[in-house]
Amino acid sequence: MRLYLFSIIVFGGLFFSKAQEKAPTNIILMIGDGMGLTQITAGMYFNGNKTALEDFTSIGLSKTHSSNSLVTDSAASGTAMAAGVKTLNGVVGISYKNKTPKSILEISKEKGYQTALIATSSIVHATPASFYADVVSRKEYENIALQMSTSVVDYFIGGGKKHFNDREDKRNLINEMSAYDIVSSLSKFDNSTASKIGHFTNRDEPNKIMDGRLPLKDAVQSVLNKLDRDQKPFFMMVEGSQIDWGGHANEIEYVISEFNDFDAAIQTVLDYTIEHPNTLVIVTADHETGGLTIPKGNIKKMRPSVEFSTVGHTASMVPVFAKGPSASTFSGIYDNTLIFTKMLNVINE
Ligand code: MG
Ligand code: ZN
Repeated sequence: MRLYLFSIIVFGGLFFSKAQEKAPTNIILMIGDGMGLTQITAGMYFNGNKTALEDFTSIGLSKTHSSNSLVTDSAASGTAMAAGVKTLNGVVGISYKNKTPKSILEISKEKGYQTALIATSSIVHATPASFYADVVSRKEYENIALQMSTSVVDYFIGGGKKHFNDREDKRNLINEMSAYDIVSSLSKFDNSTASKIGHFTNRDEPNKIMDGRLPLKDAVQSVLNKLDRDQKPFFMMVEGSQIDWGGHANEIEYVISEFNDFDAAIQTVLDYTIEHPNTLVIVTADHETGGLTIPKGNIKKMRPSVEFSTVGHTASMVPVFAKGPSASTFSGIYDNTLIFTKMLNVINE
């Protein structure tokens, strides 16, 4: 009996330590800028009553207020999710207590992760900037670009090339970014064998998807292929940036088409996790935009009729969808800063 118990303890211990050595968890954070619950609802019905979000197993709600306003902007909310601190609207990477904490992207790099940023805005826009820059104003695009040029981001795809090579200080940051292969197309991105690769999709802000922009899912697939090649754990942030811009414009077609582009990218990520189950996927928003409501609709056509109530953002909580290892920790109602903390817990496992 004693020997039997001893065996259980020894072999149990071996098994436990084996479990402790499991592969590190990849983290893919997907942010639909301005994507509240109503944007998702409208997009789902317009898209044949389905969304990739239906595959997620854990759902929570995030409180998006900033340190000085119930209604946040993307800089304060991006900083909360990227670095775990509340700050004033318009501030990137610096807390309201004037601290500059490391972002989850920077911490993951220190832990041996590969890192990637993809946005359908410029790469220096508030949401992606929150993962590598510290600036008092989100409008300091040239300063943000300078910080991007020396960041620990391994792969990036987004617009805003002019902030790197057509600057007030006359510097050409693209020439200075010698560690990177800066490529002019996605197929060149695919063919590059460099360890750090960047692709500027536009000189300024990228076009709308309705005007023929590169589908986000294609960019996501290209970066996933590189991350897969590297054989290291990774942190990737993917932003559907222009759902917000459709909301500001109060144009439902703009909102829906950008949501659908983002939804297809979510599906691409979910497909990747089938072969790579050690991948945690989190999909959320930084805030809702437009005060979108669906006061009526057509049940036969499953078509919502929408109304906007503002051209700005609103204070509504936004959903957080999670799937993969530790997904259940994203259930519940919590501050947007806890999205950082929960991701950090996964990296520190
Ligand atoms: Mg944004
Ligand atoms: Zn906005």
